[in-house]
Amino acid sequence: MRAVTNYHIWTIGCQMNEADARRLGDELDVVGFAPAESAEDADLVVLYSCVVRQAAENKVHNQLMRLREVKRRRPDYKIVLAGCLAGEETAALQRAYPFVDLFVSPKADISLRNQILDLLDLDQRYRQEPEGAQRAPGVSAGVTIHQGCNRRCTYCIIPFRRGPERSRRPAEIRAEIEGLVQRGTREVVLLSQIVERYGWDLQPRTTLAELLTLLNEIEGLERIRFLTSYPVDFGTDLIEAVATLPKVCEDINLPIQAGDDTVLRRMARGYKVADYLRLVEALRARIAEVAISTDIIVGFPGETAAQFENTLRVMEQVRWDVVHVAMYSPRPGTVAATWPDDVPKAEKKRRLHAVEELQREIAAQINARLVGRTVEVLVEGQKDGKWYGRTRSNKLTFFPHPEPLAGELVQVRITEASPWALQGELVRRQPAAPRPTQIPLYLSA
Ligand code: SF4
Repeated sequence: MRAVTNYHIWTIGCQMNEADARRLGDELDVVGFAPAESAEDADLVVLYSCVVRQAAENKVHNQLMRLREVKRRRPDYKIVLAGCLAGEETAALQRAYPFVDLFVSPKADISLRNQILDLLDLDQRYRQEPEGAQRAPGVSAGVTIHQGCNRRCTYCIIPFRRGPERSRRPAEIRAEIEGLVQRGTREVVLLSQIVERYGWDLQPRTTLAELLTLLNEIEGLERIRFLTSYPVDFGTDLIEAVATLPKVCEDINLPIQAGDDTVLRRMARGYKVADYLRLVEALRARIAEVAISTDIIVGFPGETAAQFENTLRVMEQVRWDVVHVAMYSPRPGTVAATWPDDVPKAEKKRRLHAVEELQREIAAQINARLVGRTVEVLVEGQKDGKWYGRTRSNKLTFFPHPEPLAGELVQVRITEASPWALQGELVRRQPAAPRPTQIPLYLSA
């Protein structure tokens, strides 16, 4: 009998790290490894790291320092560093973290599971004989479909760490999702840094719209989401796919980053505010009740107070459902990091709070319109005695019910709304009625 290897996976950062960690966990379970509650209880720990902001990189460093202490006590302890920090020069990383056993760059196409088996010196049987039982995945699971990015936004470190764009084959993605559905997943979130570029590198070439059409056929799968979108790549074929494929949710994550053309040009985003607004108009004209979220960076080098005010004006114009806002922080190796980081920290914070405050008002108004309506919710779990799940438009919704409901599609009548979540009562447990195709709920002001 094999000795069981206990593993622990620690993640930080984007949903792609979470999805990759879930997939690695599945692969390790199949070959008979067992998940450990904590890094200290494990024989092997894998860190999926993030360097998008300095704060995330600091957390990875702190975690590595904690693991160094474990390794001092237990020399057989194995530490694997994956994710974007490992995309850097391995020699420099080896000097900084000599106690790490394996660095796995996200640019590498070799299976992480096989590299781990090599590291542990485990024989060929592990590669061939499924032995372990896989844990149930979440009701909603992320699935990476495309890695890397060929663009060069001036503030962004990702292309350097994740490398050029590579798509996974449609059949491989479909097989992974069918496996998840068999184990209880009802919704998948297709992940990529730049999701509309999916399939351009494949032979034969394919598109995200074609992939969505293929995945829409999977029996037992209820919902499909995808992110992150890029404004100039979002084509009419994709708008049609979202509008017509029943499982594809009306939920688009479309980062604008700044609402000022000069700042956008310095970010090298490749579009103007007017291009973005045209796309929002096209989405809202064709897709009933589409929810659109965005990302905004405040305090980019050279961003004046007036340019920042333009971002607030665009927020009032577009009225996004959700805004993820972050203060600019220079990432060594990027073009913007060679420019003076000239917006003082206090001013960055002021801009951040101004975006948050305005968005709180807008989201409160958008969500208040749902009070009294009945919406379809996919139930994900229970918290503080209430069930929670998300609407097709990705609104977190809570409601009480005495029976188990996880994984079910239910109809919930909304009784209360806040900027962040909805409260309601269960109306029925049957699948939703056909989607409305007429009037958008919230038009731009
Ligand atoms: S599109 Fe720009 S922001 Fe997004 S990953 Fe690529 S370089 Fe970074």
